[in-house]
Parts: sequence; structure tokens; C-alpha cells
Amino acid sequence: MSETTPFPAATIAGYPRIGANRELKRTLEHYWSGKIDRSEFDKEVSDQIAKRINHLKELDLDSPASQPADFFLYDQVLTLTCALGAVPQRFGNLVRPDGSLDVDGEFTLARGIDDKAALEMTKWFDTNYHYLVPEIGPYVPISAVANPWLEQVKVAGEAARPVLVGPVTYLLGAKPTPDSPAHYNPLQRLDDVLAAFEAFLSQFAKAGVAWVQLDEPGLVRDTWSAPRAEVLAAAKKAYDFLGKLPNRPALFVNAPYGDLGIDGRKVLADTSIEAIGLDLVSGAVPSSEDLAPLSEKTVVAGVVSGRNIWRTDLDGALQTLRKIQEVCPKISVSTSTSLQHVPHDATIETSIDPVVRSWLAFADQKIEEVQVLAKGLSNPSSVNAELTENARILATRANHPEVKRAEVRAATAAVTAADRNRAPYAERVAAQEALLNLPLLPTTTIGSFPQTTEIRKARAAFRKGEINEAQYDEEIKAEIARVVKLQEDLGLDVLVHGEAERNDMVQFFAEQLDGFATTENGWVQSYGSRCTRPSILWGDVSRPRPMTVEWSTYAQSLTSKPMKGMLTGPVTIMAWSFVRDDEPKKEVADQLGLALRAEIADLEAAGIKVIQVDEPAIRELLPLREAGREEYLDWSVGSFRLATGGAKTETQIHTHLCYSEFNVVVDAIDHLDADVTSIEASRSKMDILPAVHEHGFERGLGPGIWDIHSPRVPKLDEEKDLLEKAVGALNPRQVWVNPDCGLKTRAYPETVATLKNLVEAAKEVRQEI
Ligand code: GLN
Ligand code: ZN
Repeated sequence: MSETTPFPAATIAGYPRIGANRELKRTLEHYWSGKIDRSEFDKEVSDQIAKRINHLKELDLDSPASQPADFFLYDQVLTLTCALGAVPQRFGNLVRPDGSLDVDGEFTLARGIDDKAALEMTKWFDTNYHYLVPEIGPYVPISAVANPWLEQVKVAGEAARPVLVGPVTYLLGAKPTPDSPAHYNPLQRLDDVLAAFEAFLSQFAKAGVAWVQLDEPGLVRDTWSAPRAEVLAAAKKAYDFLGKLPNRPALFVNAPYGDLGIDGRKVLADTSIEAIGLDLVSGAVPSSEDLAPLSEKTVVAGVVSGRNIWRTDLDGALQTLRKIQEVCPKISVSTSTSLQHVPHDATIETSIDPVVRSWLAFADQKIEEVQVLAKGLSNPSSVNAELTENARILATRANHPEVKRAEVRAATAAVTAADRNRAPYAERVAAQEALLNLPLLPTTTIGSFPQTTEIRKARAAFRKGEINEAQYDEEIKAEIARVVKLQEDLGLDVLVHGEAERNDMVQFFAEQLDGFATTENGWVQSYGSRCTRPSILWGDVSRPRPMTVEWSTYAQSLTSKPMKGMLTGPVTIMAWSFVRDDEPKKEVADQLGLALRAEIADLEAAGIKVIQVDEPAIRELLPLREAGREEYLDWSVGSFRLATGGAKTETQIHTHLCYSEFNVVVDAIDHLDADVTSIEASRSKMDILPAVHEHGFERGLGPGIWDIHSPRVPKLDEEKDLLEKAVGALNPRQVWVNPDCGLKTRAYPETVATLKNLVEAAKEVRQEI
């Protein structure tokens, strides 16, 4: 193929699809609940696609191939799974004769139905976005059965650049089906996926598409399922093959989320793809020598962060771009990753202090930055005004008095190694058993109970000033009392207060700590229709007053069973906020650790005996390459231990993690030194157990036996089966019985039904021990 249309001078690697007002979320949820029918759904989706395309055109993404065609109904990986017809056997009845699924089928894969469990969900690289894990065994059908990108191409015209998860990353992110032979790896299906991509590419060529973007972040990570040499060999094979196809658009292979490395760049440089995208925010800027192999390619330089919300240092970015341009004259300006990880528009956040707000760039501001940079690259003097204004804004940030506060710095500087250590576990477990007197296989939940409409309404009314604080507190207390009573009726052993007072497990703390700003509309997609609203950590952190003590002590006053205090850990607060980029993470983590440590002391003083510090995000921030992991674990685990290290020997410290890749972080989990760890295990059918066993992990462990991501109620036997597996593989004395995660996204009917089964399963399995 000949490269007729040059790559656009300015572009973005991807754009949020949830909508500035979460339109997609509403449409999906209305459709799932039956409020709108299929034809209304289709119309709303088409409208959103059209609006999005127009909006991007208004932001000047209208030159050929400058607009990512990446509107996905639920998830970019799921869309590809469906386009490939790679449907697991249990969903075979949903497949149409041509191998494709309709949208209902697609949603069923994502959400499960009756006795058919949904596809597993896992975090996408080091982000807080979840994708649906393809199940790729040796016999799963794979071919090009649908092309959902073409609809967007039709609307956007020549501006469209379809974005697909690349073949290598797709397979690396897949898991084998249970019928796969030993040593089978989904990568073995590469030829089939490539054949399907050949078909997609020729369909795109026929539709007049000039450029296609294939996202290959799989090339920036070290994975445990395939050694790097194997990953790079697969990339070489894939792009040799796709590059040589005669009938295709130009190929832009993007490598977001990290450093492609000399080896990765070389592999891609040696193929006939036309453009390579580098993440120059997470990854290092290659030296001129290292860039030389790319000199013939278009280099799509990701200098504007797709991960954080800070204004880019435009002058610094321009210098980077010029340096690359000297070696690679075909250079284009882009974002480091898709903007799906940032909210739409910072200018509408009128409740944030205008000074702080001036430091922010959300998706739409980042598009402007990319364009200023592209302009500056081709004509330096044309952007003088923009550069001056940018420098002024960055200076107000650097000089703001609350960005760095002496008393906070003095406190973190005074931390000693002893502050991060508790008594030995044997001593703790004895003291805790004596104090808590729990049965074998104690039952508990992860913290939140369903957030009812009444609670949401009360919160909204309070925010609007329709009810006062005392009235709001009464509503919350009534809800806490209901939740405590329900747990007593169900017969759970360690109770929770239900977190009704929390809109979000990070924002709740961010609103009470100094150093944070919270947004009103800064939503980002977490999975499917679920969104989170990350807080913005911009200054030094401290805790002006207790944050959870009132609610926890009220809940404890209602029951003689132990009530778990419930905190979010320092690493998770950081991972799920937009964190300052002007200080080392270790400093920020320790500031948070000290704030939580003070909270734990206050909870203990108020009579709370069990305290859970959630760290579901510790896995997310794990560096994608081996190098750097040790340093990361040092500060992340260190901050958790700083938070919990002051707890009394008899205080039982729990932690909770949301995912099932125990093997990946087993060292980290072990070093957290929590007395009890709860972890996701039901979708993955307890496949963490061998790793736990192998590692000799001895402290309490609650592998989840209920997948709370789906409304489906598992049968008693399913829960029992999972629990028996855990008890069989571990020391029964270490096993806790709990769901995979908090229940706030669930409704009460399925919650009550499933918890009843959970308590019953524990009872029955206790008999068997
Ligand atoms: N305690 C939190 C809850 O139950 C934990 C949520 C999470 O791990 N994501 O909602
Ligand atoms: Zn969780």
C-alpha cells in the first residue's frame, strides 16, 4: 500500500465515550431496566455517536484520520471479542448463524444471565478501567463476523480513524478456557486473529478509511503469562503479516501506558507499518540514537498525558517534540493514552477554586493542548501567547502556599521504620482470637450495602440545601440501623455499617482531607455503565478532624458483634484520584498514611476492634515493567504499614483487594501484613488458591464466593463449592467467608438472597471440617 494520506499533525489516542453528561450510562441503564426499547436504544446510541463526532470536529479534529473512532457500547475489548465471534461455548445459544451477536448478546457476555457467569473483568493495564477478559481456548471460533467501527466511519467520514485493540494485546489479555491443554497460551491463536484483522482491514480500505489505529499496550508490560521474547516475536509476526497486506489502510500501532523499550521499538520499526505511537509521559523520551530506527516512520508522540488532569508544560513538551523531530521528521502530536481516563471538560467545574481550576486540563482542554503543540512545532512564533499564558499558570501552581506545607513535611520526615511495624503475627492472632471470639470460617462483607434511592435522594437534597445536616445525619443513621439489623438477622459474624454516608470510597475521604479538590461532573468510565469521579489531590495532605468515627461508633452501639471500621488505604486514595505530578509518590503516600494512622487511633479509642483498610488499587499502580516494581512496593506497602502500624496488637486489621491476580502481587499482599485479606475469587473460580498455597501465605484470607459485579444470585451449592475449594486448599482456620467486593452496586433482593446462602454455606462447610 502507498501512504497517500499523511498522518494528521495533531490527534488524540482516544476520547471518552460515556458522554459529558453520562449519556451512555443513562441509555444503557434505561435499556437494561426496560425503560426504553431496542429501537429507542439504537436511536439514542446513534445520536450519541453523531454528537460525539460533531463535538470532536468542533474541537478541530476534522482533518483526515484525526478522529479516533472508538465509541464502544460497553468495552473496547468486548467489542473486539464480539467482532471476532469469539464467544465462549456457554453463550453459544446467543450466536446468530453468521457467528455474530446482537447487542443483547453482547450485554449478556458482559453481565451474565441465569446460571451463565459473565466474562471475567480485569483492570486495563495500570488504570482503573476494567475490561472483559476474552476466553480464548484452542477451539473458540475466531473470524471477522462483524465490523462495528464502520457505523462511526460512515458518520465521521474521512476524519475517522478506527481504533482496535491490537491482535497481540488482545490475546495477551485473554485467558485460556478450562478445556485448554496444559501449556496452551491464547497467543497460539494469533494466526486466526490475524486472518480476521486482514478482513477488518480490507473492509476499512473499502470504506475509504485512510488510517487504522491498533492499540498494543501489551508491548509495554512484562507479563507473567508469556516471556517478553515471546510477546515481541508475536508482535513481529503480527505486524510483518499485517504490514505486507496489499489491501489495507495505513497502520498506526500505538503503545500507550508505558515504555515500548528499545527492543519493542525495534520490532515495530522493522515491519512495514506506517506509524508508531510512543507514550512519552509514562515512558522515557528515547535518545536520538534510540530513535534512529524509527526515522522512516511517522512517530506519534504522546506528550500530553491521557492519565492525569494537569495542564501540560507546553514549553517542555515542545522541546521534547523538537528533539524527536530532528531524527524523525514525520512527527505528529498526540496524547500518551486514550483520554477515556479523564473527564470531559474542566471549564464546567465551577465549584473548584478558580486558581486550582486554572491548573486543570480535562479531555477537551487536552485536545486544545495537542493542537497548540502541533502549531508550535510547525511555526514556533505562532503560539507565543499560548506559551506565555501556560507558563504563568504553571507558576501559580508551583508557588501556591498550600502546595507545600512545612508542618506536613516535618511529620513525614519524622517517620521511622518502627512506625511501619506491628507486633509479630502470632502474637496478634492470639490476642485477636481472645478478644473477638469468632467461629471457624467467620462470615463478613466487604463494607458497603446497596445504596438505596432514598439515600441518594437524601444526599442530593442535602447538597441542594433542601434538608439540613441534622436531618441528613438522621437518614444515614436510620439506614445504618437497618443494615446492622439485617446483618444480625442474617447471622453474619463481623458486621459493617454499610457506608451509606459515602458517595464514593475515595471522594468521601478526599472531601474531608486538606489538599484535595472534588469535581461535580468529572466522571470517568470504570466499566460498562459504571463511572467514578476521581478527586484531585493537588496539595499537601492533612486530616483536620476524624472522618469516620461518628458513624462507626454509632453502628457499634447497635450490636454486640464486632463492627468493622472502614477506611480507604493510601495507595487506593492515590490510584483513584488524580494525583499531583510535582512531588514523589512516596511523599504523597506517607502524608495519606499519617492521616489514616490518626484515624485508626481515634477508631480504637472509640472502641472499634476490627478495622478494614481497603487497598483494591495496589495492583493497579504496579509498574508494568519489572524494573521499578521494587521501588513501587517499597513506598506503596510502606504507606499502608504507616497507616496501620500504630494499631494495637489486639486490633484486627483487614484489607481488601478487588481482583484475582493474587500471584502477581502476593509479595505485596504478604508485606502489607494485614491480619485478614479479602480478595476477588468467584469469577475466577478460586484459581488464586495454588498461588496462596505456594507462597505459604498464613494470615487470614477471604477469597470471595459471590461475584457482586453481576445481578445474578448464585445458588447455595455454587457458593458452597467455592468455599469448599478454599477450605480444601488452605488451612481452614485462615479462611474467611465473604463476597468478592462491596455491595453498593447491587440491589437488596439479590443481596439478601445471596448473603443468606453465604451464611448457610459457611454453616454447612463448618460441619464438614
Ligand atoms: N469497602 C468498600 C466497599 O465495600 C470496598 C470497595 C472496593 O473494594 N472497591 O464498597
Ligand atoms: Zn473490591
